[in-house]
Amino acid sequence: MRFSQIPGLRETKEQLINAVKTNHVAHALLFDGASGSAALPMALAFSAYVNCENPTENDSCGTCPSCLKIDKIAHPDFIFAYPTAGGKKVLSENFIKQWRDFVKENPFAGLSDWLEYIEIKQGNIPVEESRQIIQNLSLKSYEGGYKIVLIWMVEAMGQSAANALLKILEEPPEKTLFLLVTNDSNRLLTTIISRTQRIAVRNLSESEMVTFLTDSNGLNHERAAQIAFLSEGNINRAFEILNQKDQNEKDWFANWMRYCYAFDLTKLIPLADEFDALTKESQRSLLDYGLKIIREIYLECVGAKNLIKLEGDELTFVQKFSRVFKFENLDKISEAISEAQMLIERNVRAKIMFLDLSLSISRLIK
Ligand SMILES: [Zn+2]
Repeated sequence: MRFSQIPGLRETKEQLINAVKTNHVAHALLFDGASGSAALPMALAFSAYVNCENPTENDSCGTCPSCLKIDKIAHPDFIFAYPTAGGKKVLSENFIKQWRDFVKENPFAGLSDWLEYIEIKQGNIPVEESRQIIQNLSLKSYEGGYKIVLIWMVEAMGQSAANALLKILEEPPEKTLFLLVTNDSNRLLTTIISRTQRIAVRNLSESEMVTFLTDSNGLNHERAAQIAFLSEGNINRAFEILNQKDQNEKDWFANWMRYCYAFDLTKLIPLADEFDALTKESQRSLLDYGLKIIREIYLECVGAKNLIKLEGDELTFVQKFSRVFKFENLDKISEAISEAQMLIERNVRAKIMFLDLSLSISRLIK
């Protein structure tokens, strides 16, 4: 993770970068931010920066062996702990594969997302995990840089785990960094808090969120402002809203194609009214989604299954419809949808355009 991949929060990044540049890195940092904030990404970006072999003025390089290993969560001197469940013998290392995928998918995700991901109801960090960390730290650093211990959701440590951690924080081994990430610092032992330097990771401001959504996610300003308002600076929440939109588009498009296939006017006419009532942006986005799915159906038809990026019920839909669609007409369907998009730009009445498009697709499917 690079600092540059984290939206906004310039003052926090500067604080961390300056600490490294002036050689004032505390041996234990507490990344304190609400669920859905950039607390974990900030700790990850910092880890990479500290051990980077070719850092730039303000960031790690992302290409040196150390950065690559840290990004893959496969650096031998980078030790992770996070909530798990399943008894004393089940520790973080038993979940490392899932953890890598989880962090890669969305480092802004919260504890409930993680528990859902590994399919457990309640997770904690047991005292055995602290013992494991102590044991790992007794070994020599593999690569000569800092050893880093990153504990995610440190508030999930029970009393004895926290006390064991406290002991190492009081007498830290040399060249070891403790990065503690919390979503709820009120639940931490005050003795732990007093042993760490707190790095406050606030939620994004509205303008930081809008910039992030327009620049990195390609949203138009209106939609970005709407999501910024709804998410209240919570990055994970913003992603959820974005994905929910995809979910709606998915269902909507699948239904539309079913009605077209059945040539069911009793469904297509009300759907045209619904389409007519959407904002231009949503209309465009729905048709964009349609083009994307048609492209995937094309790939399925020509046997280029390895190029298909979909999964779950979207993939099932594509597989099913690739048997239904007439292959030689896929191009024409794409053309018809693209043409409809142009008509939307020219302010043609959306209801008529949509009905017309539906009838064309009905003909072309069969
Ligand atoms: Zn590097």
